[in-house]
Amino acid sequence: MKHFHYIFTGSGLSALMTVYRMVVSGKFDDKSIVLIDPDTKESNDRTWCFWENGTGEWDAIAHQQWDSAFFIDNSFTKKMMLAPYHYKMIRGADFYRYVKGMIAQQPNITFVQQKVIDFTDTPLHVLVKTETESYTCNKLFNSIYNPMLPAKSKYPLLQQHFIGWFVKTKKPVFEADAVTFMDFSVPQKGNTRFMYVLPFSETEALVEYTLFSHNLLETQEYENAIHQYLENLDSNDYEVIEKERGSIPMTCYPFWKNNSKNVVHIGSAGGWTKASTGYTFKNTTKKSEELVAFLEQGTDFTKLHQKNRFWFYDSLLLDILYKKNEKGGTIFSAMFRNAPPQLIFKFLDEETTFAQDLKVIWACPKGLFIKALVQRLF
Ligand SMILES: Cc1cc2nc3c(=O)[nH]c(=O)nc-3n(C[C@H](O)[C@H](O)[C@H](O)COP(=O)(O)OP(=O)(O)OC[C@H]3O[C@@H](n4cnc5c(N)ncnc54)[C@H](O)[C@@H]3O)c2cc1C
Repeated sequence: MKHFHYIFTGSGLSALMTVYRMVVSGKFDDKSIVLIDPDTKESNDRTWCFWENGTGEWDAIAHQQWDSAFFIDNSFTKKMMLAPYHYKMIRGADFYRYVKGMIAQQPNITFVQQKVIDFTDTPLHVLVKTETESYTCNKLFNSIYNPMLPAKSKYPLLQQHFIGWFVKTKKPVFEADAVTFMDFSVPQKGNTRFMYVLPFSETEALVEYTLFSHNLLETQEYENAIHQYLENLDSNDYEVIEKERGSIPMTCYPFWKNNSKNVVHIGSAGGWTKASTGYTFKNTTKKSEELVAFLEQGTDFTKLHQKNRFWFYDSLLLDILYKKNEKGGTIFSAMFRNAPPQLIFKFLDEETTFAQDLKVIWACPKGLFIKALVQRLF
């Protein structure tokens, strides 16, 4: 049985970024590392967007960035200048190629294309079983998401689910310089439903019909909504170039409580997805850095603790959306109407002071949050 210092089960965003940071630190060159995943991670299986203040370490592979954004609902349209922030987009394929290209130079790191079926932390080592082989390691980094864990817990669980079409229209209908974060003018049908638009030119965009809700829809319902949206933009004549779909867990379930001395859960499987928004890329840049710093010092992953006051704020929003799913539009509209995007970004990045937190929370409908707070406390 082959033994490694470190095994990564799953080799997507969080695993690759953590390994990238280990290589950059130069402190793990003498450690044997293997990443196990049945997928070769070569296709463009997703696009990641995130906001960032100024320049950043992933700019070299950013496909596009925008400096302004729309927030829209039935009663108002707000175009916001984002400076000093930029909204950046990275294609999955570009990220995989870049990081794997760098890892390929490292003789101590290998990839194995197998499906993991089980792993166990034993007193001697961690045992990992794939469909065809078994391996042991000192430390395991798991990014295989188990949906049953949050589903069976007491924590409210919603999904951020969407289908997106990369479209090319005959007429110029998009404002190429501004993304649409949320367009709540689409019928809500008792849920939190919005359109998210990333324009690449006046005639090209990714148009994504997105819900924060309990249950996924039939494919046809997402697609009808995108078609209707394009018609409303006066664009009957369009071509669908590519499609993407996703379902991202939104939950405050404490994934880190499943860490053991030698097994750490990372990525969405480790709670690195921001519960109130589904955004994961930016959190992963931070969490992977913290994890590698911890690895240089600590040995016991149960000591990696992740709860802070922002976890509590997220849990309040999820409580509301779980019980009153139709309220999302009202909450996000009030937030974007009353607070500048820079403050909202800082808050969602968990970098605000307590006084700034209150400004953002105060921008939201107070009654809903006070009720959720009282219910949570008592
Ligand atoms: C279409 C889409 C768009 C998204 N857009 C954004 C965005 O714009 N901004 C943002 O911040 N977040 C976004 N996200 C959310 C989040 O950033 C991604 O889901 C991100 O890839 C999560 O990283 P991860 O490492 O947790 O999981 P993944 O990147 O999914 O990696 C997990 C890996 O585990 C592998 N695996 C699964 N089962 C096994 C098994 N049995 N054995 C071995 N390997 C296995 C998978 O093949 C996969 O490679 C998006 C998600 C999707 C799906």
